[in-house]
Order: sequence, then structure tokens, then C-alpha cells
Amino acid sequence: MRWTILGSGGCAVIPKPLCRCRVCREAREKGIPYSRSGPSAFLHDINLLIDTPAEIVDLLNRWHVGRVDYLVLTHLDPDHVEGLRVVEQIALDFRNWRGYPKKAISLIIPEQLKEASRQIRSCHGSLIDFYQESGFVRIQAFHDRLSLGEVRITAIPVGRGDLMSFVYAFEKSGRRVVYAPCDIKPFPEHRDEVQRPDLLIIQPGRFEDGLKHRFKYPRNHPSRTTLYSFNETVDLSKRLQAKRTLFVHLEEYWNRTYDDYRALESRNPSMCFALDGMRVIVK
Ligand SMILES: [Zn+2]
Ligand SMILES: [Zn+2]
Repeated sequence: MRWTILGSGGCAVIPKPLCRCRVCREAREKGIPYSRSGPSAFLHDINLLIDTPAEIVDLLNRWHVGRVDYLVLTHLDPDHVEGLRVVEQIALDFRNWRGYPKKAISLIIPEQLKEASRQIRSCHGSLIDFYQESGFVRIQAFHDRLSLGEVRITAIPVGRGDLMSFVYAFEKSGRRVVYAPCDIKPFPEHRDEVQRPDLLIIQPGRFEDGLKHRFKYPRNHPSRTTLYSFNETVDLSKRLQAKRTLFVHLEEYWNRTYDDYRALESRNPSMCFALDGMRVIVK
């Protein structure tokens, strides 16, 4: 499987607009790999885009994506869906305000997310309904798993009431990649499909020290219910027996630069912090 991490940032991009912290100043000065756009990845084997952060139009151009056949969403938080209009930018035929049929994107969506996704709205109503009526997307809902070409995809729900998110397992030719960028606690580690991945793409979780404003998480902080700590994530990766672990969704408030992450990597060769535009091959 050939992957590109289109954006390695989290819910706030780096540099965060107007921010003068050292991480953002350096990113503004040096650009990539110090700067990070919102969370998104691309699986070249089947032209599958995962998530649409606000910067997705720019990211598709910057990393030379030539075609998108499928789109899948991990969940509906704004940092993953606010660039959804990219489907209109890709497919719109200005002559009739409909989609070019050959450019329509299949939105493959777990059944459990389908109804909630229709709640993403503009002043004209449900965005996804509008994109479907206009011919920009075709909705392809599925239960648990589906195969696209030679790639088998399993959608594993992470239950948090209405705020459901999904971990996806991608399998091809005996290789497995697990993609779990955001809102992954409690991680479904009992599931067979996440065991022994050749590549685990996951958010590193909360760093407890060195945070912006010297913040320390109090015991009852809400982030403790949605995020693992970094050490817990490392332990999780070991329990899953991931051959390689790639950390994504790297947050600005963790107050760490590209060089800080490089230093952390040097302590564990099977772990790596993603960069915008990083290419990863799993074979
Ligand atoms: Zn900053
Ligand atoms: Zn997120």
C-alpha cells in the first residue's frame, strides 16, 4: 500500500494563525517540515482520501494528487470535515452547476455515521444531501467492512455516544494498516483487525509536560476521557504489536517542534512522527 500523509497537524494547524509562540514562529519562518496542516491521508492504491480538513484543496494540489475516487471520514468533528466542499471544487461543471459524472466521488460511509453526516449544514440545508443531488458525490454506505479493488476496509466504531468516531483497518496482500488519528479512546483493541498491523497510524495522545503556557492537566480534565497520554499510546502500540507506528494529528499546544519530535524518535526506531507530504509504503 502506498500512502501519503497529506496533513500531519491536529485541531489547530501549525503555525496557528496570529500565534507568536516559538513553535509557530519557527514554522512560519521555515515552513515544512516545521509547519503542519490539518489531519488527512491518501491511499494511492485506490485513490482514497481520508478526511477533509480546511486546507484540503491546497493539500491535494501541493502533494500532486491526480484523482480522488473515494472519500471516507473518520468522524464529523470540524477539523476533519470543514473542507468537505472540496468535492464540489473537484467535480463541479460550471456549465450546468452539476457534477461531471466521471469526477463524482464515492463517499463511503459506515451506516452508523450516515444520518449524523447529513447534519453538516450550510444555509442551503444538508451539505451531503446537496452534494449528492448535484452529482458531486455518490453515497455508498456500508456495514463493518467493504472491499475496494484489492483493499479490504474494516470500519471499527469508537463509541462516545453521539460523537462516534471510526478506526479503519486497511488490508491488502497480507499487509495491514490501521488508521486512528483522532478521538480513539477507548481504543477497540479487542478487535482482530487491529492486531499486529504492519503500520499503525495513530495520534500520540496527550503529552503531560512541556505544554504551552506550562499547562498541567488536572485529574478531571475532559481531555483525559478522549485522549490517551503519550506513554499510554506507546504501550497500546506495543500491545497491538505494531511493526511500525506513525504519529499524526500533532497539536500546536503540545509545544513541540519538528526537531523535538526527531529527538523523541531517536529513542525508539520503530516510531516516527509524521510530516506533511510524508510518503509511506507498506509492502
Ligand atoms: Zn503557537
Ligand atoms: Zn481531530
